[in-house]
Amino acid sequence: MSVRAYIGLGANLGDAAGTVQAAMLGLATLPTTQLVTASSFYRSAPVGYVDQPDFINAVAAIDTDLEAHLLLDGLLALEQLFGRERSFRNAPRTLDLDLLLYGDAVMHDKRLTLPHPRMQDRSFVLLPLHEIAAKLQFPDGTALATLVAACDQTGLKRL
Ligand code: ADP
Ligand code: MG
Repeated sequence: MSVRAYIGLGANLGDAAGTVQAAMLGLATLPTTQLVTASSFYRSAPVGYVDQPDFINAVAAIDTDLEAHLLLDGLLALEQLFGRERSFRNAPRTLDLDLLLYGDAVMHDKRLTLPHPRMQDRSFVLLPLHEIAAKLQFPDGTALATLVAACDQTGLKRL
């Protein structure tokens, strides 16, 4: 049975938009996985360590037969493929792929937390997600639209 999952993409080094575009297409190369919908690209100001370039962010919907941890492995492999280098937390990176939602799964183990723990207050995740799944509800019943209305959109621009 295939599962609808949502992937957050972000990059801020080199040709960030090109990297996000290539990674978007790369999602469809994962085993038993189809790309369903891709959001627009957004530009966002860096959070945390601010002395780095703006990010390009987007969200993709996929359908996959991969179990959640195997999907995460696939995402980490795509990050490697696009030459990610990271030196410290929130450091510049060529590509960040986050598993935002995997069906209605709720889990927390050493490798994987679902839903992604930091997505609910990140406008650069919530807005592109809302663009492609306006009626989405989180596993706990919270409406995505409610979080979108409440989030701080400073520094975010739809391209
Ligand atoms: P962030 O994307 O919040 O900046 P990182 O990309 O640095 O965080 O975190 C990578 C690690 O987070 C991965 O090694 C992975 O095991 C773990 N992780 C836990 N839950 C998730 C998730 N839902 N999506 C992606 N990575 C996750
Ligand atoms: Mg990540």
